[in-house]
Amino acid sequence: MALKRARGIHVEDMEGRRFIDCLAGAGTLALGHNHPVVVEAIRQVLADELPLHTLDLTTPVKDRFVQDLFAVLPAAFSKNAKIQFCGPTGTDAVEAALKLVRTATGRSTVLAFQGGYHGMSQGALSLMGNLKAKLPLGALLSQGVQFLPYPYEYRCPFGVGGQEGIKINLNYIKNLLNDPEGGVLPPAAVIVEAVQGEGGMIPAAKEWLQGLRELTAAAGIPLILDEIQSGFGRTGKMFAFEHAEIVPDVIVLSKAIGGSLPLSVVVYQDKFDKWEPGAHAGTFRGNQMAMAAGSAVIRYIESENLISHAADMGALLRERLSAFQKYFPELGEIRGLGLMIGVEIVDPAGPVDALGHPPFNSLLASRIQRECLKRGLILELGGRQGCVVRFLPPLIITAEQVEQVSQIFGKALS
Ligand code: PMP
Repeated sequence: MALKRARGIHVEDMEGRRFIDCLAGAGTLALGHNHPVVVEAIRQVLADELPLHTLDLTTPVKDRFVQDLFAVLPAAFSKNAKIQFCGPTGTDAVEAALKLVRTATGRSTVLAFQGGYHGMSQGALSLMGNLKAKLPLGALLSQGVQFLPYPYEYRCPFGVGGQEGIKINLNYIKNLLNDPEGGVLPPAAVIVEAVQGEGGMIPAAKEWLQGLRELTAAAGIPLILDEIQSGFGRTGKMFAFEHAEIVPDVIVLSKAIGGSLPLSVVVYQDKFDKWEPGAHAGTFRGNQMAMAAGSAVIRYIESENLISHAADMGALLRERLSAFQKYFPELGEIRGLGLMIGVEIVDPAGPVDALGHPPFNSLLASRIQRECLKRGLILELGGRQGCVVRFLPPLIITAEQVEQVSQIFGKALS
């Protein structure tokens, strides 16, 4: 597929076919393609002959961007926070966060979660809770990272599910952190997504995130929230961790923050600022167009109430998708927060697990994806064995467009 043109939630290919884009640059395009406020912000940088590249020097565009970002961070976090500009990708921010907490704590190990996704460079990849991408690289990657079970309720790793499963999960982590003989080395950090994106659109229960925050705070372990995919209104809050009303120690941000241009940052509590000036660097930290576009996105999300709009559109889409479950037992679970929605495809004829849920069905998931594409709908797959159809549309999607998306999905299923 080769794409020629794009606007709003639509892209057009070289043959002139139009598609609804429910992938949106893997969640980058919060305002869709070529939104007028983003285009104007970029144009203005050029028209004013602003310095396009400034390494880490301050400019009015950067000042404004930092102020806009800090204005939307929860006050309990931003009042003592600092910012580190990173390279262009989310992975860069994850790498910088790892360096930050390792320097601050003097510890080296990290706890991450099964199914988690944090990027593709070797440090970030070590944190990935999915063996497939790591296996060809061997032991080099696994050192120093221990994986914990994510509260994936549908496939509860403890075979219990619901609130009971969440309690067992937290007790398991508590035990690992507090058992002086059979537990883990005190880690430099715990890194987690409040909603696993690539891992299959799995929201962590509020009580679990609160429990994790309490446990890490009590043990003096920095908690890193990876909001690279879930941030900037996507889940119906500015940041997904806000659903649980917790305050992280470190937040990594990218994707939507640059308004479709490459940018990533780490924001962190200043008590962790133990690294020397210059300890972290990188040439492309000063992308002025990305900062201008990012400011435009943040301001537009605020002024147009896109956060509550995303919550409403997400609820509508989940409702429409759930209605198909009556007719298609292949739709195992439909879940998500806001406009981060996943449909787990199962084989209803297969043997059920401890919770009574049928097995994964990756062949059917990719067939559904192809049938949607034929009918003009771009969807991505994720999750275990690629069995989760992921809906990640721009936040500006309208109710009418949500109906179109669900209609196409229904036809593809039929
Ligand atoms: N963290 C999360 C939660 C992500 O979803 C991604 C990208 N899908 C990354 C990190 C890595 O970002 P990038 O691909 O820009 O390096």
